[in-house]
Amino acid sequence: MRIVFMGPPGAGKGTQATIIAQQLGIPHISTGDIFRANVSALTELGIAAKRYMDAGEYVPDTITNDMVRDRLEQNDAKQGFILDGYPRTVDQITELDTMLSVDDVKVDVVIELTAETNEVVKRLAKRALNQGRIDDTEDVIRRRLEVYAEQTAPLTAIYENREILKQVDGLGDVTEITNRILSALAVK
Ligand code: AMP
Repeated sequence: MRIVFMGPPGAGKGTQATIIAQQLGIPHISTGDIFRANVSALTELGIAAKRYMDAGEYVPDTITNDMVRDRLEQNDAKQGFILDGYPRTVDQITELDTMLSVDDVKVDVVIELTAETNEVVKRLAKRALNQGRIDDTEDVIRRRLEVYAEQTAPLTAIYENREILKQVDGLGDVTEITNRILSALAVK
């Protein structure tokens, strides 16, 4: 199964994508995690991405698309994957289609985890305390939510038109949400 997870920062995409990927035996590919690993390792990619991430802005499409292409070319992604945090722009949606068309495959389902702003701000503030992520400060959180609302939320319409979008309520306890996602994926 080729699955895309969408939803605002703090909706629980990372937590749920990790669990679902493990249950389905497919890789969990989080662009945010890959960027953060590169920032920590001080790679060229990390150095290029860092200033955008620190400001809560999107890393430019060319950089992001190249990184995802490399990742999807690896063998473990050939039988399926969960993409978490990608695509986030129209250009990324188009590029992803192109990447998959090489193997004559498509995204099967897009899970949009929904959560209201007050709740995600609360969760992100808590994560800031626990994980100390540099982009979890109040100003940057606000900017990341704005960027999501402006640039990414409207894109769910593209997948809705393809009739592969499933909206899942991201409020509740972790197991409950996992079960909702499994139902939406029709694997439960
Ligand atoms: P995340 O962990 O998904 O919230 O991503 C953290 C940061 O990484 C984002 O605020 C962006 O700066 C960058 N990032 C992750 N995924 C993407 C993407 N698909 N396009 C552009 N930037 C991204």
